[in-house]
Amino acid sequence: SAGIVVVGGGQAGFQLQQALRSQGFDGRISLLADEPFLPYQRPPLSKAYLKGEATDDDLAFATADFYRDSGVEIIEDRAAAIDPRTKTVTLSRAGSLSFDRLILATGARNRRLPGLEGVHGLVSLRTLANAQELRDRLLATGDIVIIGAGYLGLEVASVSADMGASVRVIEMAPRLMSRSASPAVSRLFQERLEARGVRFELASSGVRVLHHGGQVTGVEWNGGSVRTKLVLACIGVDPNTELARDAGLDVANGILTDGYLRTAVPEIYAIGDCAAYPNIHFGQTVRLESVQNAVDQANCVAAAIVGEARPYASLPWFWSEQAGMKLQIAGNTTGQAQEIVVDGDHQAGALSAFHFRDDVLVGVESVNRPKDHMLARKILRSRQVISAAMLPQLLAPAPAA
Ligand code: FAD
Repeated sequence: SAGIVVVGGGQAGFQLQQALRSQGFDGRISLLADEPFLPYQRPPLSKAYLKGEATDDDLAFATADFYRDSGVEIIEDRAAAIDPRTKTVTLSRAGSLSFDRLILATGARNRRLPGLEGVHGLVSLRTLANAQELRDRLLATGDIVIIGAGYLGLEVASVSADMGASVRVIEMAPRLMSRSASPAVSRLFQERLEARGVRFELASSGVRVLHHGGQVTGVEWNGGSVRTKLVLACIGVDPNTELARDAGLDVANGILTDGYLRTAVPEIYAIGDCAAYPNIHFGQTVRLESVQNAVDQANCVAAAIVGEARPYASLPWFWSEQAGMKLQIAGNTTGQAQEIVVDGDHQAGALSAFHFRDDVLVGVESVNRPKDHMLARKILRSRQVISAAMLPQLLAPAPAA
């Protein structure tokens, strides 16, 4: 038979082929990977790798031998087109592949600031190649301006400051990580990052990158400006949906799937950063960008292919590391809560923020409180109903035996 074709050699694509083999699938698997590296993990790119504490080899999920031994063919090429009727994928360089099942794991790409193509010193961070360039330039210039105070921008800010660089972060919103963190968590990270030397320009509008002779020279915003030769734009991502769209599949903010992660063509699935699916915990269609989401969705689709189709139901969780602190998020903290209860010690840098919607716990952010995070995952996964009034009892230390 034609076998499985996976488009995209990122976190989701890697996990899919591995899960298929570990769940006993012994048919043909082809993994289309268009980057010039074997599949690798992205989280360290803005953490240990940028610091110089991890090498290219450390990032790889597996060696070439691993794929050969497990009979997975890695094809270093792009999928250029899909024909759902004949079940074939056309490759961009040469040839085509037929499939029984096709998994779209095309990920997302960084948004770019318009009108600045080819300007030196304006960088982006998504790939290993990007991270190599960012690290080289950072070591050369010793200063950086980061546009966007989301997780990615702040992780880079934190590492850059620790490397001794002068760091400025410019953000449109009045606080850090405003899309998914509570005000208490934003404040804590701002204080700790400032203590390490990061300077913030919050609530800044009209940001524009200045350049001269093809080289970045500075950044201006309404109310201020700074000279720099290195600017990192961390202004969000767009899902890679063109391939699906051109094949006639439904696409909105992501490739749309049903609760089983299938597109309208039942033999074609979409997983990871590129997929928008109905999330039972959030009660709406979402597109998530996390390792957890990529891994669990890949496992779910692999199980369906070997014959155990179940709706995708995993609880979303996420982590970030900045200023020597670990932030962990379970469930939904994206601003739909009516009440947020903060427990912990701001001074000590250890607290959790519990988000309630209609007096039901829907999400928890924890900073240096891993126990709260694990408890939150357990509660939210089992869909146990916890009200704000029940919280003190939940957090009380267990009585001594
Ligand atoms: P990707 O990893 O983006 O992989 C998609 C791959 O498909 C890419 O290699 C792309 O080039 C390829 N591709 C696209 N189109 C085609 C085509 N037509 N043909 C062939 N190949 C194609 N998440 C966390 O949970 N915690 C973290 O701390 C964290 N830190 C991060 C730090 C950084 C710097 C970045 C960039 C991301 C981080 N993430 C983190 C997010 C996490 O890495 C992503 O959610 C995850 O990589 C998504 O996996 P994916 O396979 O869906 O997409």
